[in-house]
Amino acid sequence: RQGADDRKVTDAPHYLARVLMANGIRNMYGVVGIPVTDFARIAQGMGMRFVGMRHEEDAVNAAAADGFITGRPAVTLTVSAPGFLNGLPALLEATVNGYPVIMIGGSSTRHVVDLEEGEYEGLDQMNYAKQFCKASLRIDRIEDIPLAVARAMHIASSGRPGAVYIDFPDDTVAQTLSQSEADRLMWTATDPAPAMVPARESIDAALALLQQAERPLMVIGKGAAIARAEEEIREFVKKTDIPFQPMSMAKGVVPDTDPHSTASCRSTALRNADVVLLVGARLNWMLSFGQGKTWNEHVKFIQIDINPEEIENTRSIDVPIVGDIRSAMTLLNGSLEEYPFKADETWLNVLKEASAKNVAKFETREQSDQLPMSHFNALRAIKKVYNKHHEDLILTNEGANSLDDCRNIIDMLEPRHRLDCGTWGVMGCGTGYAIGAALSTGKKVLYIGGDSAFGFDGMEVEVACRYQLPITFVVLNNGGIYRGDFENLGADGDPSPLTLTYNAHYEKVLEAFGGKGYYATTPEEVERMVGEAVESGKPSFVHVQIAQYAGKESGNIGALNPKPVVGAL
Ligand code: ADP
Ligand code: MG
Repeated sequence: RQGADDRKVTDAPHYLARVLMANGIRNMYGVVGIPVTDFARIAQGMGMRFVGMRHEEDAVNAAAADGFITGRPAVTLTVSAPGFLNGLPALLEATVNGYPVIMIGGSSTRHVVDLEEGEYEGLDQMNYAKQFCKASLRIDRIEDIPLAVARAMHIASSGRPGAVYIDFPDDTVAQTLSQSEADRLMWTATDPAPAMVPARESIDAALALLQQAERPLMVIGKGAAIARAEEEIREFVKKTDIPFQPMSMAKGVVPDTDPHSTASCRSTALRNADVVLLVGARLNWMLSFGQGKTWNEHVKFIQIDINPEEIENTRSIDVPIVGDIRSAMTLLNGSLEEYPFKADETWLNVLKEASAKNVAKFETREQSDQLPMSHFNALRAIKKVYNKHHEDLILTNEGANSLDDCRNIIDMLEPRHRLDCGTWGVMGCGTGYAIGAALSTGKKVLYIGGDSAFGFDGMEVEVACRYQLPITFVVLNNGGIYRGDFENLGADGDPSPLTLTYNAHYEKVLEAFGGKGYYATTPEEVERMVGEAVESGKPSFVHVQIAQYAGKESGNIGALNPKPVVGAL
């Protein structure tokens, strides 16, 4: 129908964009195509920020970083079948890590897909997605759009956050609704991430146990960063002097420079602690499942987690505290007068001594002026730049040695300023994270990755240039997965399975799209070039040439790689 009445009708793309924005969603990352191209255009026209990415996995990672940093889900948009499937690995990773994200996938005509008639990109996407996220929903009727989005907001944001998939079939995309009916049906999610206050008795039991501790330790995990509980946790450390071990992405919840940090004496802290307060950290592989030689034989655990299913999934927990970390820490802080508790000075001195010893060992390695550079002296130079800009600079970090060494060398002073390979240790997440971090905060971003990690998602540098995002990409190139080619068993002259191009110029990838590239071979060059690149606030790229033999196979987790039984390498 043509005429004046047209303005009184809305369609599904307009309605969905309106509802998403009414729910506070501001950013959408995606790759357009059939049947959602117009949806992206319309949303952009209505004031949503749309970032056209080059691969759906990176689009989900960008939205996940946005959600982790802002505490509100962002949206990823994909086309049907292959585009949708490309997004799934990152959708699952977001769910495993606890980042809120909503992926909307355009899909093909339902009844043709359901009868398997051979539809264009015909796939029952909703059912495929079910195992990759917290919930997988489908909008079959335009009237259900507010309901679908409200459900997605609640599921993505509450409890342990995670991903939600919304299927948006082309028959729904084409539906219309009168404007008055659309207004009448309009509603938004109320308090999608409510406080969940733990039981009083669990707080009392925790403090009673801490009072008996001789060697208490707090382990801070990324749940604390997700919970935005830095103020409460810092207060607890200040009041009790409890030493803390930061997990990788919890770095900065309490500044790494705080004297209570046990980051540089991790094994001493874990092996000796007799009461451990876990604050948003799972007892998974990263903490040796709370078992074995890593821990004291008689260690007792207090575990704060929002997810009751996480308690006692690897070992006994003496005091479970089920609730959100902010509420839990507020209650703990408030009960310290009733249950006074201070960490013992002898214990703090043991840790201090172990720390000083390790720091001294570390420094000699970092300060080596050997050329070609190692990860250590290159990262040491980057650290100087980072320290100058830390408040306004978010770090994304991936690779094997580039990850391990960067985590150890660069101190974080602010929470949620470090995004890395997370719970699974995945590669190919860093450039997507960088784009989401830059777009959602307006801050500068420093990407640090190895040559192998960068290869998975490197094309996203084009996005950084197209949107003029203030991202500096730094690739530490040692010419291989883990490192360069030394263990070539082949007789055919092919490179070894670990080998990548050593004599490369990764910075030229970004130059191809108008960004500024640099090539550094010494620590002085690294500091100057990374410094200039970061200060420019423009898309920039520093290729850092390190030694081919720098780094070790599998980084710090080589023990997870089974060794051949017949004939050692
Ligand atoms: P890390 O890798 O840093 O050790 P994990 O991802 O293993 O951290 O653990 C984080 C834990 O924090 C998860 O079990 C998750 O359920 C929990 N969590 C996430 N958000 C909150 C919150 N707001 N309050 C309490 N726990 C939370
Ligand atoms: Mg490498």
